[in-house]
Amino acid sequence: MPNSPSSGQLAAGEREDAQVSRLLTWLSATAIAFLVGIGTKAWFAGHTTHAWVLWSFIGLIALNMLYFASTGNRARQKAGMIIIVGLLFTYLIASGGENNTGPLWFYVFPPLLFYLTDLKTGTAVLLFCYLIAVVVFQFPGLPLVSAEYSMDFKIRFFAALTFESIFCFVLEASRLKARNELLALAETHEHAARTDELTGLANRREMQNRLTMEFSRYQRSGHHFSIALIDLDLFKQINDQFGHDAGDDVLREFAALMRTVIRQADVAARWGGEEFLVLLPDTSLLQALTLAERLRSQVARHPFRFRDQSLPVTISAGVCSIAKAPSLDDLLKQADLNLYNAKESGRNRIAPRVRSQENESSPILSP
Ligand code: GH3
Ligand code: MG
Ligand code: MG
Repeated sequence: MPNSPSSGQLAAGEREDAQVSRLLTWLSATAIAFLVGIGTKAWFAGHTTHAWVLWSFIGLIALNMLYFASTGNRARQKAGMIIIVGLLFTYLIASGGENNTGPLWFYVFPPLLFYLTDLKTGTAVLLFCYLIAVVVFQFPGLPLVSAEYSMDFKIRFFAALTFESIFCFVLEASRLKARNELLALAETHEHAARTDELTGLANRREMQNRLTMEFSRYQRSGHHFSIALIDLDLFKQINDQFGHDAGDDVLREFAALMRTVIRQADVAARWGGEEFLVLLPDTSLLQALTLAERLRSQVARHPFRFRDQSLPVTISAGVCSIAKAPSLDDLLKQADLNLYNAKESGRNRIAPRVRSQENESSPILSP
């Protein structure tokens, strides 16, 4: 049974990425509105250079939005936003913004950064920005640096930023941990809902889904498929003679043996009790009969043992191809009828028997 343990995670990842993109678009629009307002205020306060710099960031954000709209590249959208915001906040620290309040905008950065990137990248970018802030604070004479801050402000700015960063890191780490645990739990439940506990094969419900899918594929594109309904012979006797645990062991061992006989694309399921169903995509009736016969002969030869006792295990199977049945229901009914015939004609058999082989006392399809 093709297992897809990562499909849930992939879907969740895709959903989260889409959510982050939507948030970024919304944030970009809000940032543009803010920059228009703050730039205009700076303009009327006579700080024309400051106003122009702020407005030029509007252009950068708009470009980033346009780039995402035309390419749909979410990774670039994120990286673009982080670089633009990083540059903007660095400028605000270096210039001081309005009345040296520019650095306060920096507090937006840690939560945004940890939300947009993974913990490692977020920490690295944050440390880099810290470094820039330290350089700007320590060397007010540098080119493009026009603001000077008091020692008290610097200490409080860094102390508060450090606490905020640590909290953001811890919160994001625990959010990720809880998210991964939840995904793993959902995956376990999803797997359990599709799997038979005793044998590890697909369960009846999963097989019904697979059959429906295969039948749709057949209707759409004419891909033939066959099924083999397999039943362990006189299984009640095994239980009665050797105990229920021995019976369980046989079911597990038979399932394992069946896995080695069927092909990668085939799906084997526990259909109920000691009955199994194998779905054989792109398989004709004759090919399905050959596979079922190979399985029958391997089971008959396999030394099933339980606590040093040898168990007599054989199977019978009813095979049917979709070419012989107009619907899924008919396919299953026909396979069941063939299984009944195999039992009636002595067990340890596959039905239907191929006519040419019946005449030769069927070396392939009868024991
Ligand atoms: P036949 O060859 O006609 O199929 O005979 P049979 O004895 O296999 O058929 P029957 O339907 O009379 O008995 C099936 C038995 O399979 C009865 C039931 O107790 C046993 N069985 C069903 N599920 C399990 C299981 O999960 N574990 C064990 N140990 N036995 C099971
Ligand atoms: Mg049986
Ligand atoms: Mg049965």
